[in-house]
Amino acid sequence: MGAMSFFFNISVASAAGGRRAQIALPHGVVQTPVFMPVGTAATVKAVEQGVLESLNAELILANTYHLYLRPGHELIGRLGGVHRFMSWQRPMLTDSGGFQVFSLAKLRKISPEGVEFRSHLDGSRHFFSPEHSMAVQIALGADVMMVFDECVETPASWERTRDSMALTHAWAERSRQYWLQHRQETPWAQPGLPGEGQHQALFGIVQGGMYADLRRESALRLVEMDLPGYAIGGLAVGEPREVTREMIARVLEHLPADKPRYVMGVGYPDEIEEYARMGVDMMDCVLPTRAGRHGLVFVRQDPADRSSAVQRLNVKKLENAEDQRPLDEGCGCMVCRRYTRAYLRHLVSSGEALGATLNSIHNLAFYMETMERVRSSLAPEDLRTPA
Ligand SMILES: [Zn+2]
Repeated sequence: MGAMSFFFNISVASAAGGRRAQIALPHGVVQTPVFMPVGTAATVKAVEQGVLESLNAELILANTYHLYLRPGHELIGRLGGVHRFMSWQRPMLTDSGGFQVFSLAKLRKISPEGVEFRSHLDGSRHFFSPEHSMAVQIALGADVMMVFDECVETPASWERTRDSMALTHAWAERSRQYWLQHRQETPWAQPGLPGEGQHQALFGIVQGGMYADLRRESALRLVEMDLPGYAIGGLAVGEPREVTREMIARVLEHLPADKPRYVMGVGYPDEIEEYARMGVDMMDCVLPTRAGRHGLVFVRQDPADRSSAVQRLNVKKLENAEDQRPLDEGCGCMVCRRYTRAYLRHLVSSGEALGATLNSIHNLAFYMETMERVRSSLAPEDLRTPA
């Protein structure tokens, strides 16, 4: 480790399970619970890095599958890793590529060794194993990497889910072995570079579908591997929200309290608040930027009450054509301080690129504000500067 003497430091834990903590990573300290904007292809779509910094984004995610296909992990590695490539010097996390291989790639062929697939871009043939996913993620050089896992289709039978989970566990152990042997190869961790001596963290992924007994077994098996953190994968894939919540609650019971917990790919603003209060430390979702690009923004029902219900506003609607109010009158973001609904409606209706950008910025600010409010309610004092 570098200057920081701790990796995960819990400041306050509530009776309901929520905790406020700090994760010390090679590129900085992250205040949790944290929402991570998704930078699929080394860009949070339509929002540039300087704006992400001003939104107080402390940790962003990039997708291994996309960067492996284009421009290629070896190219990014030669350029010093994804931080330098995209000019983002704060912490980053890469997924393992598993989810994209199983949801985007064509003609998958799964064996105990790994997955053969065809690129969604040009149909070219590729093979991902746990070792290869680790090698790609090490070349990219994010602060946190994820083990390579199989993502089972939904719905899947108990037997099918159990077999898939067993494969995920075997792949997690192989990912771990590769990480232990190769983590010093990270571009910025090389001798003579600023990150010398520091290394990437590896998180496990709990699977088990919508079956509480399998979720428990998966959590216990992964905890035995003693990884720096644990994610809960395979949720928010079409199941009812009560099931998502129930699976998260069942898994949290079996994860160690002193390590970060990350729920992948969730969710709506009220969901991320709920899960944070249950004890989830990290979440990511494409929703704020994807919805923004489609002219959908999140606002509070009562703008003056930032804990009031979340509403969705369709910017494109005719009723906004002469509306001089900001998107959300209680939001202090750079978009709401400056622009009217009428102008944003015009941009979206005209297909102007700025419309997608401004709506995405407001939605990201809305998510950031939500998590800031959760953190403040857990511990009002400013914990930004560790002693
Ligand atoms: Zn706003």
